[in-house]
Amino acid sequence: MIELFHIWKQYQKPYWALSDVTLQINDGDFYFITGPSGSGKTTLLKTIFREILPTEGQILINGINILKVRDSRIYTLRRTMGLVFQDFRLMFHRTVFDNVAVPLQVIGVGRKEIRRRVFATLQKVNLHQKMWELPGRLSYGEQQRVAIARAVVNNPEIILADEPTGNLDPELAFEIITLFKEISKQGATVIIGSHDRELIRHFGDNILFLQKGKIVGKEAHR
Ligand code: ADP
Ligand code: MG
Repeated sequence: MIELFHIWKQYQKPYWALSDVTLQINDGDFYFITGPSGSGKTTLLKTIFREILPTEGQILINGINILKVRDSRIYTLRRTMGLVFQDFRLMFHRTVFDNVAVPLQVIGVGRKEIRRRVFATLQKVNLHQKMWELPGRLSYGEQQRVAIARAVVNNPEIILADEPTGNLDPELAFEIITLFKEISKQGATVIIGSHDRELIRHFGDNILFLQKGKIVGKEAHR
């Protein structure tokens, strides 16, 4: 479970990027965070990942206060999370396989097991046939799927995706969110920051509306 208590974040005075955000996300929930540009979506996701520290407030993940844990434990904590950035951040001089294998190498999974899991994950995103290509030779949508495969290969409990369908055509965006949805059905908590209203309307179980850093609305469907 992810619990945020009265989170405030200020980068520069006098603006608040997050303003008294209190929120509880249960295991296995599928969440969209939406709102106009500058409303705090990215800040909220980065706060959960502990990439940025809030100015005030508390965050508990599975009961652990992530703002108080020691640095060494932050890495352990982050390994339970999969992240998809808007700009993918792939290694372009390494193969698709290598890119997806990284989170497993970091935790010392054996070579055979890495092969098995990377292949299985690439099958899920339907990219196993391009396993030995360099990302630069793939289409934009395919690169996005590599980023998603990398985020989920480690079976993370929590998946955070910031505008994962930005710049994709609607069909591909649909496909990507369907994929996240399948992953969430297998038990992961999925939180997607997006301003794509049509997509959200179609897929949103839970929708959180932000405006100027404040929660201005919540919807729960299904
Ligand atoms: P969104 O993802 O919804 O577009 P952000 O979380 O990126 O919103 O930004 C929320 C607010 O915080 C905006 O006003 C933005 O200009 C400001 N902001 C974000 N990152 C920084 C930063 N590193 N330094 C200063 N201001 C920032
Ligand atoms: Mg953003």
